[in-house]
Amino acid sequence: MSEAHKITLATAWLDGCSGCHMSFLDLDQRLIELAEKVDVVYSPIVDTKELPPVVDVGILEGAVSTEEDLHKARMFRGRCQFLISLGDCAVSGNVPSMRNTFDLDDVLDRAFVENVQAQPGRPSESLPTLLRTVLPIHHVVQVDLFVQGCPPSADTIWQVLTELMAGNTPDPTQFTRFGA
Ligand code: SF4
Repeated sequence: MSEAHKITLATAWLDGCSGCHMSFLDLDQRLIELAEKVDVVYSPIVDTKELPPVVDVGILEGAVSTEEDLHKARMFRGRCQFLISLGDCAVSGNVPSMRNTFDLDDVLDRAFVENVQAQPGRPSESLPTLLRTVLPIHHVVQVDLFVQGCPPSADTIWQVLTELMAGNTPDPTQFTRFGA
């Protein structure tokens, strides 16, 4: 990544609550500076629906819980030169991985049968194909930077982006509490 061109940035949330993206939006007025130096080419916060074939920086929020999550994580890894695992769900599995201690059939019954009063029953369609085990991003693809927090603060996200906008690789030890 060089200073000469606008950095292209793609973001996605997998199995997360969107709180990490909300923290990104909490950059507030710094978003104006960001827009001058970064081109957001794919994200829930922009309209573009196709991930370009080559992207400078990818940010993934959330854990890998479904086949679709797995596909998206692999697609980001394949197309993003620098991939960031953002937030505790992405880094460790966090809340979504709490279902890992239960049998998947029991989880589905709990959600769609036991806790439902009107028309209980698993939907036959439109339910994403769940993986048996929820995984952090780096268990399915290589990650270049882990940024912990639930969510990471806007200041932390800005610190990462500032380094990238300057053409630097962020120091990984500044954003993790443990060696992920
Ligand atoms: Fe939400 Fe926290 Fe997970 Fe981010 S790390 S997606 S804020 S639960």
